[in-house]
Amino acid sequence: MTNPILNQLYQICGQDNVLDNPQLTDPYTHDWRKRYHGSAIAVVFPETQLQIQELVRFCQAQQIAIIPQGGNTSTCGAATPLSDYARAQLIINLQRINQIISLDRDNYSLTVEAGCTLQQVQEYASAHGLYFPLSLASQGSCQIGGNLATNAGGVQVLKYGMIRDLTLGLRAVLANGEVLDGLTALRKDNTYLDLKQLLIGSEGTLGIITHATFKLFPMPPAYCTLMFPVSSIAQALQLLQALKTYYTNNVSAFEIIKRDSWQIYQNYFDFKHEICDAPWSIICEIEINNDFVLENLLTLLEQNEIDLSQSIVASSEQERQYLWQLREQIPLVEKQHGYAAKHDISLPLSQLEDFVASNSTKLKKLEPCGYFSIFGHLGDGNLHYNFGLAGADSQQIRELEQLVNPVVYKDIIVRGGSISAEHGIGQSKNHWLQQFCDPVSYQLMQQLKQQLDPHNLFNPGKIFALPQD
Ligand SMILES: Cc1cc2nc3c(=O)[nH]c(=O)nc-3n(C[C@H](O)[C@H](O)[C@H](O)COP(=O)(O)OP(=O)(O)OC[C@H]3O[C@@H](n4cnc5c(N)ncnc54)[C@H](O)[C@@H]3O)c2cc1C
Repeated sequence: MTNPILNQLYQICGQDNVLDNPQLTDPYTHDWRKRYHGSAIAVVFPETQLQIQELVRFCQAQQIAIIPQGGNTSTCGAATPLSDYARAQLIINLQRINQIISLDRDNYSLTVEAGCTLQQVQEYASAHGLYFPLSLASQGSCQIGGNLATNAGGVQVLKYGMIRDLTLGLRAVLANGEVLDGLTALRKDNTYLDLKQLLIGSEGTLGIITHATFKLFPMPPAYCTLMFPVSSIAQALQLLQALKTYYTNNVSAFEIIKRDSWQIYQNYFDFKHEICDAPWSIICEIEINNDFVLENLLTLLEQNEIDLSQSIVASSEQERQYLWQLREQIPLVEKQHGYAAKHDISLPLSQLEDFVASNSTKLKKLEPCGYFSIFGHLGDGNLHYNFGLAGADSQQIRELEQLVNPVVYKDIIVRGGSISAEHGIGQSKNHWLQQFCDPVSYQLMQQLKQQLDPHNLFNPGKIFALPQD
């Protein structure tokens, strides 16, 4: 006899859109890094907003917790159900709500369903001669709803901002099954509070995003993409300042990679070039037009003591893609290399050099065998500051985290930084949020959650730890 809950899910979504066999649900019940594993009565793949509304109403009535899920690429367990949770949990995955709704060329805007992958949206815009600048290494799998719910950043934030800055409007199903309809394409709308901002970065705890309208941009005519060595973060930032003065807002990406990360990298991939000796490398991209003179850029680099003999300037789209591939594969290489204590931190640019110098010395004292892999979006003050232990299993890394995380996060907070620059809080940082967030802000966020989702229907245990924890 079929379970009555499953029967109801079949009724709402159709039997083909419900998975309940644990072998088939497995990829959806653990996170990308395989650190968290939870249980779910089923994974459902609704095809319409109406089906989502019915699912939400049904779960509310049955007190079944809902885990909204996109591409499941969260790095903090945000889309993974809890293990050992008293209530049943249902994963609602948006992958079958994946249509492009409309493109308004005059308005430079695009409306899409939340289950579109980021790459699908980029390619659609590009096929119409327009540009959607959000760009992440996970873009082939992550979905627009997940991007919005995590306020995703990526490599073009320096010029274009995070997804929050690219969003004109959105639509979401709330905990009572009603639809918050803010799917506007307006660039100006001062009719009191901008409620879409509540959903952006809410990590599936306030509602299910079903649609969004984004700004589009003219396609950049061309790029100059280059990789060069720097001796310190300070030198890199001095150069960034010079580039921004010369090229104004056209410096769109400024990524940093520590030499140690390249050393890990070369265990897994062949390089087409020698790894340079410098402690850090920068991958920089400038949007250029016909006025661009490469000699002027090279002179500017030389004036800032960059070793041109160890620099690579992409001379074709293929070489540009090669440089970006090097950068984008770092998280994949790290995953292959093993577990590490990972920190997605941001600081004012002026504080970065001092933080890395002083904090890395402290961590090395705590664990002399530890290794660093540091890379990230330097131009945005965002580092992926990772400290690993060769061959460690996940339990050993949890112990390492107990030791190092307080030291990292305290050093971040005293310098005016953030413990989560772009990846969110999920279940891995909820205790740290409670500890380091301004208490008035934390209480206000709790009150908003209580108001919008009084029975903790959406993504329990994420952002806010469960009361019994
Ligand atoms: C290799 C790699 C590189 C990455 N690089 C970056 C990077 O450069 N910048 C960056 O910001 N992140 C990066 N990430 C993290 C991740 O890809 C992003 O956070 C992404 O935005 C998550 O999208 P997703 O669809 O996979 O969401 P999921 O992982 O499925 O979910 C993430 C959160 O969003 C919620 N959610 C998902 N869909 C919805 C919806 N429709 N409505 C409401 N809530 C929803 C979930 O409940 C969860 O809380 C990277 C991850 C990987 C694996």
